[in-house]
Amino acid sequence: MKGFEKFYRRKLQERWDILQDEGILTKDDIKCLRNTVSSSELGNSMIENFIADYSIPEGVSFHYLIDGQEYLVPMVTEEPSVIAASSHGASIVKKAGGFKTKIKQRLMLGQIIVENFKSFEKLNEGIENEQQSLLRIANKAHYSLIKRGGGARWIRCRPLADDLLSIDLAVDVREAMGANMLNTMLEAVADHIRAVFDENVLMSILSNYATECLAIAECSIPLSVLGKESFTGEEIGRRIVQASRVAQVDPYRAATHNKGIMNGVDAVALATGNDWRAIESGAHAFAARDGQYRGLSQWTISDEQLKGRIELPLPVGSVGGSIGILPLVKINQRILKIKNAEELEKVIACVGLGQNLAALYALISEGIQKGHMRLQSKTLAIAAGAKPDELQQVLAVMNKTKEKNSATAKAAIDKIRRSKRHDRN
Ligand code: NDP
Repeated sequence: MKGFEKFYRRKLQERWDILQDEGILTKDDIKCLRNTVSSSELGNSMIENFIADYSIPEGVSFHYLIDGQEYLVPMVTEEPSVIAASSHGASIVKKAGGFKTKIKQRLMLGQIIVENFKSFEKLNEGIENEQQSLLRIANKAHYSLIKRGGGARWIRCRPLADDLLSIDLAVDVREAMGANMLNTMLEAVADHIRAVFDENVLMSILSNYATECLAIAECSIPLSVLGKESFTGEEIGRRIVQASRVAQVDPYRAATHNKGIMNGVDAVALATGNDWRAIESGAHAFAARDGQYRGLSQWTISDEQLKGRIELPLPVGSVGGSIGILPLVKINQRILKIKNAEELEKVIACVGLGQNLAALYALISEGIQKGHMRLQSKTLAIAAGAKPDELQQVLAVMNKTKEKNSATAKAAIDKIRRSKRHDRN
């Protein structure tokens, strides 16, 4: 890889030249990369070794009635059927009066890990006694947070192992997700722990297990509105409750149940410039909080209503990170019409629950595959080489076949082209 030396220092054109000179990409490939780039300055300022803007489709989801207000929700996803399912779930809840949400607080947690400590009791007591001065040290490290009404709120000591403990700092990060702010504050406190407490600090970093930044969304749907084809509303409701129970008792099902929820959560997180890896890791840690990995949402029936509830950590921001940099994020904030990060948390929690309702509804009635494959056929046809003007005809042929896969897509394209050639001759 000699040609790649100091790749990070090269100009964009030079990086493309290297990729071509090394025989990795062709001239046409480079042309394709060039066509993706909206601003090389932006790409270079955001990441390292930038070579292209990778694009994922964005759509909008409808029918989100949340705490009495309707939202149009931008979603960025490469997966067919996610947005259709999201709108479907939300439309069922809308008929029943919409979602209700609750947010208790928005604090981010950071950790200072101490190793080979002298005495847990002594350090714990010291931290408690010096709580106020430690919070002042943290706040001084990022003083603008105080001016915005935020700042460090509490600090605690937690044993981890015989030789390891965590000093947890909770910070109100206001409108930001707060990772960088918190890390700066943690380092200032860690210096004090080293210097004054004379302890060995192994590392200090925020925790993505954002247990102090939980969002709850709920809905209550009369069983009477759930009926479909041969299923009564009572039967649909009963089957959704059973499916929800499976995700509580079986991690194999829980992982897929939660993947469906994250289809929606991640798509909105991406559209709004948020750190979806942080949200993913926090959500899965929360799903395993009692020692067993479980579904993040639960469905029950009482008073002739199907009641859904989701609770998950949603450390999102309305400012900071890439939010202020990416032009599409600003546009998406305008589509959503959110006023702050708390409102965004509420919307995302509802999208997670709406997405989950749609998935369970499809699974326990027609089966997920029917709806999924309708949209998947399109992806298969395009991947198999269908041109835009052939797509509808190819889909019509594919819809008549039982199996939908790349071979049937290719066969459908061949059939259309053969019949076109025949017509011409
Ligand atoms: P920033 O470092 O961008 O900090 C937030 C910025 O927003 C600050 O510059 C702050 O200004 C400004 N700001 C303007 N208005 C407000 C307001 N009302 N409330 C709060 N801040 C305001 O981002 P974060 O600290 O939020 O960190 C998020 C980024 O960190 C993401 O890109 C994430 O991917 C990344 N990250 C994530 C990690 C993880 O483990 N999840 C680890 C490390 C980084 P001022 O400076 O004046 O306060």
